[in-house]
Amino acid sequence: MTSRQADLILHSGQVWSSGGWAEALSISDGAILRVGSTDEVLSQRGASTRVIDLAGRVVLPGLHDLHVHPIYAGIRQRRCRIPQGSNLDETLEIVRQAAEAVGPGEWVLGGQWDAFALGCVPTRHMLDTVAPDVPVQLEDTSGHSSWANSAALAAAGITAATIDPEGGIFERDGSGEPSGIQRETAAYLLANAAPKPGLPEVESALAWSLEQMLSFGITSFTEAALGFTSGARTEMAAYAALARRGEIKQRVRVSITWEPDDHEALEVIEDRNYHAYGRLTTDGIKIFLDGVPTDGHTAAMLQPYADTVESRDDHASRYGILRVDPETLNEVVTRFDRMGLTVKFHAAGDAAVRAALDSIQAARETNGYGPLMHNVGHCTFVSEPDIARAASIGATLEVSPYLWQPAPICSDIAAAVGPEVIKRVWPVREMLDAGALVVAGSDWSVVPSVNPWVGIETLVTRQEPGGSTETFGEDEAVTVEEAIRIFTSNAARQEGAADRIGRIEAGLLADLIVVDQNPFTVPAHRIHATEVHFTIIEGEIVYVRHGSAAE
Ligand SMILES: [Zn+2]
Repeated sequence: MTSRQADLILHSGQVWSSGGWAEALSISDGAILRVGSTDEVLSQRGASTRVIDLAGRVVLPGLHDLHVHPIYAGIRQRRCRIPQGSNLDETLEIVRQAAEAVGPGEWVLGGQWDAFALGCVPTRHMLDTVAPDVPVQLEDTSGHSSWANSAALAAAGITAATIDPEGGIFERDGSGEPSGIQRETAAYLLANAAPKPGLPEVESALAWSLEQMLSFGITSFTEAALGFTSGARTEMAAYAALARRGEIKQRVRVSITWEPDDHEALEVIEDRNYHAYGRLTTDGIKIFLDGVPTDGHTAAMLQPYADTVESRDDHASRYGILRVDPETLNEVVTRFDRMGLTVKFHAAGDAAVRAALDSIQAARETNGYGPLMHNVGHCTFVSEPDIARAASIGATLEVSPYLWQPAPICSDIAAAVGPEVIKRVWPVREMLDAGALVVAGSDWSVVPSVNPWVGIETLVTRQEPGGSTETFGEDEAVTVEEAIRIFTSNAARQEGAADRIGRIEAGLLADLIVVDQNPFTVPAHRIHATEVHFTIIEGEIVYVRHGSAAE
């Protein structure tokens, strides 16, 4: 093997390899040929070898974002955007301008508001003052609640007589009229009444997001909820079209959103192998088990919430909502496992995490242990026994570090669950100590940027990027090396690709990034500012930062 000529050589830098730090590496036919000193590696230079002088820059394995919503991120880019932390007056002014700008038949769609910044849980009447005729529907920062005006409710046929859908709530005023706030499936029901983006729009939204991710060094990602924005068929068609045009460079796994009565999704699951192409795999399923542990109390918790939801005292307001009953869940997860499909769960509350683990255990007991790495997503709260159980049944815990900086949504979580429960928020330290496989995802566009360096920094600091006096679950912090492994080798294992990617060593595929600073040696509060100069997938340079010296 060492007699081969290199196609590409990166030298005179700092290469984080399995064998320790090295200066250089060479690549041939998409795989890493050699890792070593600059002299050793340059000896493999041939007439057609491309040579890049790293000038001290750092080479790391490509990063994995195992929970991202790229289609929605791209669509949202063009919608009504409310900056994080906007107060009620600022928000209404943005909506007023958006309502003036829309064409006939269009809706004002966008977000993201949060009750904390608005200073109240808002109502439809507030939106009616600035948009009396145009339907308006705005998501909150979690994406699990929406705020609509009267025109949107009327267009969707939602009245005082409308019954709450299973797993969701139309909040109501004192006289039983919908207040304009929708939780969980009620929010999706209303969203379904709005016009949906068509295939060309979905394709260009996805293409924009793919570029964004390459620029941050993301060489592999999981589409976390196919169908969420425009329906499973359109979204799968968009992925397939881009893959066939060679426009998907990353390794992508698509998780098709499963809902009990969504026949379109079931058909797309059946057709999945017609769409897989190149680096696009379509063997993932997404199951939403609960919501978020904020003011709406939609995450399913083992213990009651610490505060109350205004004008409600039912079981759902005290313990949250489990969206799929355990019997059904065990049955479908066992079935998907037997079909060879990898299941990703949305499970924020500890009761939802428990239900997810129960279903994985049920699948193992019926089907035996196989290579499928079912993963429990978000894991905002996980009970101690369930962390140990996840490790013992081979369930992956997927966390969302970009979400946990001190921010309005986190203040909201802290207020909802109380001071004791919040101490163990996102218990990553406990997960690693228990030997569970931990991976991470951005949940973009729930967060404003897909930048993984924000996630890596906050796994370590538990503070805002750049540092803050407040911390969030500081006992659960991990080291820089652990954080980077979560984004590289752990993720490769999760994706069943640990024999090919996730580490830098001879014989593995060359999915690599070149960055401007060493995250192991800079102060942890600077990690978020790491810039990617090159992104390389299977030896091909797929992204070059403007102005980076390439030769
Ligand atoms: Zn998500």
